[in-house]
Amino acid sequence: MKKGRFGIHGGQYIPETLMNAVIELEEAYERYKKDPDFNRELTELLNEYAGRPSRLYYARRMSEDLGGARIYLKREDLNHTGAHKINNVLGQVLLAKKMGKTRVIAETGAGQHGVATATAAALMDMECEVYMGKVDTERQALNVYRMRLLGAKVHAVTSGTATLKDAVSETMREWTNRIEDTHYVLGSCMGPHPFPTIVRDFQSVISKEIKAQMLEKEGRLPDAVLACVGGGSNAIGAFYHFIEHPEVRLIGCEAAGRGIHTAETAATIATGRLGIFHGMKSYFCQDDFGQIAPVYSISAGLDYPGIGPEHADLYDTGRAEYVAVTDDEAVEAFEYLSRLEGIIPAIESAHAVAYARKLAPTMRGDQTIVVNISGRGDKDCAAIARYRGEDIHE
Ligand SMILES: *Cc1c(COP(=O)(O)O)cnc(C)c1O
Repeated sequence: MKKGRFGIHGGQYIPETLMNAVIELEEAYERYKKDPDFNRELTELLNEYAGRPSRLYYARRMSEDLGGARIYLKREDLNHTGAHKINNVLGQVLLAKKMGKTRVIAETGAGQHGVATATAAALMDMECEVYMGKVDTERQALNVYRMRLLGAKVHAVTSGTATLKDAVSETMREWTNRIEDTHYVLGSCMGPHPFPTIVRDFQSVISKEIKAQMLEKEGRLPDAVLACVGGGSNAIGAFYHFIEHPEVRLIGCEAAGRGIHTAETAATIATGRLGIFHGMKSYFCQDDFGQIAPVYSISAGLDYPGIGPEHADLYDTGRAEYVAVTDDEAVEAFEYLSRLEGIIPAIESAHAVAYARKLAPTMRGDQTIVVNISGRGDKDCAAIARYRGEDIHE
């Protein structure tokens, strides 16, 4: 494999001015990932601060209700800050600190990655600035407050559609302006090399734990692992240590929004084409002229017009499957898991729960499915109530 490539995908499609920054980052990462002190400190942060390892919970009522495969839930929702994002952020901010950086910047969509980055920056005493589309700052005022409370400065981005993709572009631009003291904490397994590899490695703790937990509970590997896919970081984290076991099906659940035959979708594998954007070659939702298309999903965390390059390659080679789940199906799964297991999943994670509901009944009772519950759903309650025609004041 060529450096930073996943098949034909990945690479470094960036302006000359960013080249030094990514080279410095790659060299530092290659050095620290093998450093025992770095790994000891990171493990301690993950365990003592974020609450790892997260539980692998046997969902008995859901398994019995669906009749078929036994279903386990990987509880990333129980991590500090309520999602898998903290795994990546603690790794990157610790790395930045080792590199002698004093300031971190990050993009955020709904605010989850911004809050996680502001959290790690507070913990490790780093300056923090977060770029967020202006539209999103208005939709997610509570998360803007959280980031400020944690000591971060939040910039409202007004370019383009003033949403996540514009926030990523703006953060890259800001990094170009100030690379000496600043690290860009990218929030998913995307962007130019080495980010897709770094983010995957930090998130791969999820599949490392699932593997050990399944061997302990079932004495064998799962038959299928399901995860929702925005940029793809919780999914690649849940898949990674199973890639070498072809008998384990890996299934990424994309956001179909109102349906893949409508313009209101964010399902990149189902509707996208090969392109270059945000420093990488991968699949992107595009219009007839090759411009990045506006995307839509009820779930703000899955509302990104691309997919990480490693997923694009797992799709090309057939090692992983990608399915599209609509808003309606995700909302039903959100309510279903709440009722049946007393677990309110993030609406993102509910996309994976929705597909598990279809898949489990087609499997035998001696087979198992692991569903990655990437985050908790408290943040989504008002929006789902609204979707059901109820007005809840937050
Ligand atoms: C951000 C987020 C996602 C989507 O990001 P990935 O990089 O695709 O994992 C999914 N679930 C939750 C709970 C999130 O906060």
